[in-house]
Amino acid sequence: GDFANEVDTLVIGSGPGGYVAAIRAAQLGQKVTIVEKGEMGGVCLNVGCIPSKALIAAGHRFHNAKHSEDMGIIAEKVSINFEKVQEWKASVVKKLTGGVEGLLKGNKVEIVRGEAYFASENSVRIMDEKSAQTYNFKNCIIATGSTPIEIPGFKYTDRVINSTGALALKEVPKKMVVIGGGYIGIELAGAYANMGTEVVVLEGSKQILGGFEKQMAKVVERRLKKNGVEFKMEALAKGVEETKDGVKVTAEVKGKEEVFEADYCLVTVGRRPNTDEIGLEQIGVETTDRGVVKIDKQCRTNVSNIYAIGDIVEGPPLAHKASYEGKIAAEAIAGEKSEIDYLAIPAVVFSDPELASVGYTEAEAKDAGFDVIASKFPFAANGRALSLNETDGFMKLVTRKEDGLVIGAQVAGPNASDMIAELGLAIETGMTAEDIALTIHAHPSLGEITMEAAEVALGTPIHIV
Ligand code: FAD
Repeated sequence: GDFANEVDTLVIGSGPGGYVAAIRAAQLGQKVTIVEKGEMGGVCLNVGCIPSKALIAAGHRFHNAKHSEDMGIIAEKVSINFEKVQEWKASVVKKLTGGVEGLLKGNKVEIVRGEAYFASENSVRIMDEKSAQTYNFKNCIIATGSTPIEIPGFKYTDRVINSTGALALKEVPKKMVVIGGGYIGIELAGAYANMGTEVVVLEGSKQILGGFEKQMAKVVERRLKKNGVEFKMEALAKGVEETKDGVKVTAEVKGKEEVFEADYCLVTVGRRPNTDEIGLEQIGVETTDRGVVKIDKQCRTNVSNIYAIGDIVEGPPLAHKASYEGKIAAEAIAGEKSEIDYLAIPAVVFSDPELASVGYTEAEAKDAGFDVIASKFPFAANGRALSLNETDGFMKLVTRKEDGLVIGAQVAGPNASDMIAELGLAIETGMTAEDIALTIHAHPSLGEITMEAAEVALGTPIHIV
């Protein structure tokens, strides 16, 4: 029938933005419905963060099994059953997506499958193959996420693939060309290189991982080169031709045309917000010319009962940022005073070794007018890093000179993704380098690197001179 359903809060999209917003809104006493046209859990759980980390982990195991001769480990005949790798990856994804569904139900959030389209400022039409229904809402949170950008001349096929295709391959490619040295391209390049693929990365600028400090990007570049990855900087991808069992990619490298043959061409040149097919223009929600929805500090759009979060709004397109905004939007709807504060959003690359950054970099701090001390400590001077045989990289702590306040940190090294949590907490809680230096860190642990970097800032490190 075509009677309308009535809800307090309607959430569109079940990625890390949407499902978190829905749960928080329900916790705050709202009657909540979440609409999902694809898979529960969005990009992150199905074709993003989680499956990529699973493949990266499999790549590590394989690479380490083959290359631990230094430690006296000789493993003969190590091989990959890639079908099994994919099955295992799928089982990880399934546990998590099932978990999200369970959490939503446990919080009494109604789940509706279908595609939502705004009919008015207070209603959506939700369509699936068979039917359409109307939902009236008091407030709506849009969390429709993003899609890989397609570049001219590189239409996606079985051989010209985006990140989703790269995560779903049925075999380990012999050769792969990766266009774009951002974090997604570098993570996938590393995973496949570890599994034995010959990888060439074509990067348009002079440096891979543009958002990160050059010194950090270099740590990753060196390791990838050691694993056989080739880099072409200042390379403009021109076109691709499909051959019988592969691709031929043409690129202009520093002004000279070059051709690269491979089994697959992976294009990772960025993502665009999914905001053009939900009827935003019908209800007057403002976007930029790139389709990014404009919001205030409470994630509210220019239409006062409509909120937007995650990859469709400004800021780094990261899962934890989407979830953070989801909580804020839900709390704002419930009348709470929560506001966005992007001071300490960690950014991580799950490369070899990992990169992580939170707060200001040294250069950003100087640009912002702070007088800072940037103190560094190398992994190679840490006992745990040595005993893990993982000594590449460093930590850098950015502290304010006048009072020692920690305002930023960067880590290039094993487990950087976990180490950065302590630094985020330090920034959020207003800690000084002295606070960190006076905190006893377990020995031997990578955490001691944080303590030592703080000691370097104070001028009293024990383990370097
Ligand atoms: P999404 O996760 O994109 O979810 C949006 C959902 O909305 C989708 O399920 C979609 O089907 C649904 N939808 C869209 N339109 C409609 C409609 N009209 N009606 C109903 N439903 C609709 N981030 C990290 O923080 N760490 C990582 O390690 C990381 N790794 C990544 C690796 C890869 C390969 C990729 C591609 C991304 C990665 N990301 C990572 C980014 C992360 O996945 C995104 O930032 C995050 O998923 C954004 O969350 P979201 O809630 O905004 O949207």
